[in-house]
Formats: sequence, structure tokens, C-alpha cells
Amino acid sequence: MAVTCKKISLRFPRHLADRPVVYHLIKDYNLELNILKATISSDGGHMVLELRGSRSDFDKGIEYLTKTGLIIDTLCREVTRNEARCTDCGACVTVCPADSFVVDPLTREVAFDEEKCVVCGMCILSCPSRSMELHF
Ligand code: SF4
Ligand code: SF4
Repeated sequence: MAVTCKKISLRFPRHLADRPVVYHLIKDYNLELNILKATISSDGGHMVLELRGSRSDFDKGIEYLTKTGLIIDTLCREVTRNEARCTDCGACVTVCPADSFVVDPLTREVAFDEEKCVVCGMCILSCPSRSMELHF
């Protein structure tokens, strides 16, 4: 199952500030979340969340937030590979908890499946040629 992990910024207009959106994201959309920042003022509220879940649940959760009338900014975070730098050394294969890398038994080439990546960052630390890149 492809896992999506994204940071989003939510702005609540004053009349929506007491909506239990966090509760619904967890209960109705099976999303794990981490509240990174939450403030409330007389104008409304602002929250920064890290959401994690399947692509389908993530998309449904975002749709729910949009329909509720919240103002959403997606602060995307993803890991990509600079193919030109990769030397197929295989160092990333053993550290990846999501099995995002597969070694071809014949050619020894290391394929990267971005869909499996859970953005843990381990391959970035272990890659000697700095092929793996984190983007926000
Ligand atoms: S960041 Fe790297 S090590 Fe972590 S899940 Fe993604 S591909 Fe695997
Ligand atoms: S550790 Fe880096 S250079 Fe080695 S196979 Fe993985 S991405 Fe390629």
C-alpha cells in the first residue's frame, strides 16, 4: 500500500474554529497525525499537521477538509532519487524500512519505487553519492 505523508497548514475562519477536524481525520479517514503547531486568535485558528495514511484515505481526508471550508496549504515532503548520481551500490536497500529499493538479480541495478517510500530519511543518510534528496 502506498503511504502518503504530508505536512499541511490549516487556517480556520472564526466560525469554524471549534470544528473537531482532527477527530474526523483520525476516526473517519484512518489518518495518523502529528500536530506540529496550533494557535487560536480572535480571527480564527491556525494548525500545522503532519498527516500519514494511504493515498486514498489522504485524498478523502483533504476533500473533507476542503468541503468543511478550511483553507489548506500542502507543505509537501517527498524523497526523490537523482538517477544520474546513483552508482547502484546498494547501501540504501538494507536501511529502507518500506522496501522501496529492489536489486535486479541479473544486472545488480537498484530500482527505487517512490510509491512505497514513507519519507523516513534513512536512505538520505546512508547514500554515499548523495543521490537521495528530500523535497518540501
Ligand atoms: S526515505 Fe528512503 S529509506 Fe526511508 S522509506 Fe523512503 S526510500 Fe526508504
Ligand atoms: S545508496 Fe545511493 S548510490 Fe547506492 S544504490 Fe542507493 S541511491 Fe544508489
